[in-house]
Amino acid sequence: MIYTITLNPAIDRLLFLEGTLIKGKNNRLQEIIYDLGGKGHHGSYAMSRLDVENQALGFCGTTNKRKLEKILSEKGINHNLVDVYGKATRESYVILEAGISGSILITERGFQITNYDIELLNEQIESKVRTGDIVLIAGSLPPGYKLQDLEELLNLLKKTGCFIACDLSGEALKKAVDMEVNFIKPNRFEIQELLSSENTMLDNLKELAKKVEYVIVSQGSEGSICSHAGNFYQVTTPKVVAVNDTGAGDCFVGSFLSGLSLNRPLTECLSFASACAASKVQHNDSTTFSVKEAKILQKRVTVKKL
Ligand code: ATP
Ligand code: MG
Repeated sequence: MIYTITLNPAIDRLLFLEGTLIKGKNNRLQEIIYDLGGKGHHGSYAMSRLDVENQALGFCGTTNKRKLEKILSEKGINHNLVDVYGKATRESYVILEAGISGSILITERGFQITNYDIELLNEQIESKVRTGDIVLIAGSLPPGYKLQDLEELLNLLKKTGCFIACDLSGEALKKAVDMEVNFIKPNRFEIQELLSSENTMLDNLKELAKKVEYVIVSQGSEGSICSHAGNFYQVTTPKVVAVNDTGAGDCFVGSFLSGLSLNRPLTECLSFASACAASKVQHNDSTTFSVKEAKILQKRVTVKKL
C-alpha cells in the first residue's frame, strides 16, 4: 500500500482570464476550475490515475471540508483525513492569462495545527502503516507543525519499517536527509540547501547517497539525475510545449513511486516518471496528465548510466 501525507493541504482556484491581467481594469473571467493544491494530493492523483492503490492522509479544515473532499472524490482519490475543527483548508488563487504560458500564484499560509491534531494524525498513521508500505510526505509544513514534529513522524514511520519518501524543502528536507529517509526528490532550487558549493553536483550526490537510498534531483525541462545503490543515472525529458510546469515534480514522484511499488526496474521507473511529468506540463492545471500519452513519450526518454 502507498500512503501520501499532506500536512498543509490547499484547494487551488484556477482563474482563467479572458485576456491578460491589467491593473485598474475589470479583468473578466472566462472560467474557474477547482483543483488540488497539496503536493501529497498531487502525488496521490498520479498514483490513482495509474491504478496503483494508495490513500491520501493528512490534515483537513472542517469549515470547507466538503469542497476538498468533492475534488478528491471527483479525481478518484481514496482519502482518510484528520479533521482540524473550526479551520478552513487554505485556498490558493492561480491566475492564468489567455494565450500566455505560466501563472500567477497567490497562496495563504494555511491553518494553525495544534499538538492535539498532530497526535491524532500520528495515531492514525501508526495504526495503518505496515512494513513494506511506501509513505510519501510531500509539501510544506503548516503553521504550528515544528521540525521536531516532523522528526517524531519520521521516527514513528521508521519503526514500522516502511519505505519513506520525502518531497520537502528547506529545513524539513535537511531533517529528512539527516534522518536517512529512503527517497528524496529536490528540484534545482531545493538541492542548493543540501550542497556544498566546492563540490560538483556528482560529488554532492555521492555524499547524499551515503544517507539516502534514492536521490533524484529534478531539473525541469533538463530532466533529472538519480543516484541509487552506487550508480548514477542521467534522465532526459522528451521535448514538449510546456503550458504549466507546476506539479511536474509531484507527478514525477507519484509516477516513480507507483513504478517502485510494482517492482519495475529502476530505469523504467525513471523513464516513465519523466514521461508522465512531460505529459503533465502540457496541461494548464497542476495535476492532469495522460497515461496513454506518457506511454508514447516514454519511448523518447533516455536513461544513461554515468
Ligand atoms: P513542482 O514542485 O511544481 O511539482 P518541481 O520543481 O519539483 O515541480 P521540476 O524539476 O520542475 O519539478 O520537474 C520535475 C520533472 O518533470 C523534471 O525532472 C522533468 O522530468 C519533468 N519536466 C519538468 N518541466 C518539463 C518540461 N518543460 N518539459 C518536459 N518535462 C518537464
Ligand atoms: Mg517539487
